[in-house]
Amino acid sequence: MVERVPCKHQVVGSNPTLGSNLAQNQMVTFSKTFEVKSSKRIQSVDITSEIQKIISESGIKDGIITIFIPHTTCGVFINENWDPTVQEDIHSFLSKNIPQNGNYAHTEGNADAHIKTAIIGNSVSIPINDGKIPWGTWQGIFLAEFDGPRKRKVIVKIIGVK
Ligand code: ZN
Repeated sequence: MVERVPCKHQVVGSNPTLGSNLAQNQMVTFSKTFEVKSSKRIQSVDITSEIQKIISESGIKDGIITIFIPHTTCGVFINENWDPTVQEDIHSFLSKNIPQNGNYAHTEGNADAHIKTAIIGNSVSIPINDGKIPWGTWQGIFLAEFDGPRKRKVIVKIIGVK
């Protein structure tokens, strides 16, 4: 049985503060790139706290954050960051269905990593309310390494009002 609770978030457009800020043209952007070092070939790296630090640094209270990974064998996704076995299951499911040594046309040896990245995706966009991401109880954001260990770049762009 799923428990449903009323949503506390305001409907966009009905917030008089946000509306007046927009009218005064106070929409701003904030950009930041940081590096993540993976330590295994296949790994989920929790970047939730780095992302929250960047939001705080930006000073943006209402807006959208986009997190983009500029690589072809590494992606980004949101899922559970409480029980680590969830991450294990995600990777073992992907590896079982997309094995490293399959019959691929791309012969660099990392075709599986390219396919996994295409499925997982290279970016996520998330709302910012009151300077924070309105995470679900168990949610976090992960860099999904599929061909490590490597140094990876994470590009963050925020647009909103302070
Ligand atoms: Zn390749």
